[in-house]
Amino acid sequence: MEDCIFCKIIKKEIPADIVYEDEEIIAFKDIQPAAPIHILVIPKKHIPSLAYLQNEDEALIGKIYTVINEVAKGQGVKEKGYRVIVNCGEDGGQEVGHLHFHLLAGKKLGEKIV
Ligand code: 5GP
Ligand code: ZN
Repeated sequence: MEDCIFCKIIKKEIPADIVYEDEEIIAFKDIQPAAPIHILVIPKKHIPSLAYLQNEDEALIGKIYTVINEVAKGQGVKEKGYRVIVNCGEDGGQEVGHLHFHLLAGKKLGEKIV
């Protein structure tokens, strides 16, 4: 947890372009955007990945989706649409070991895998 880059962003030890914050959730711009709008929405609780969710996290995850919608609205893409991606584990392409939801928008997004 001490080495977790997203925990450091939460603690304001490293800078990030924060677009939303409350006591449980923070959202900030991805440092290497894959779309004109690319925001990471994350719980402040250090959950290593989707695979480590516990029953007690259910309400938090529900709230994250509400925050994603609020952020999308704030970014002006609520009507145009957006994509939410969670990479989980090595085969899922997860690189940062702190659960995060990618919010991608601002262009017609490319290839759909599913
Ligand atoms: P993953 O591949 O784990 O699903 O996504 C990790 C994301 O975090 C990547 O899109 C990457 O660009 C982003 N990222 C990694 N380090 C930092 C950082 O220090 N600041 C910000 N804002 N984004 C980061
Ligand atoms: Zn963390």
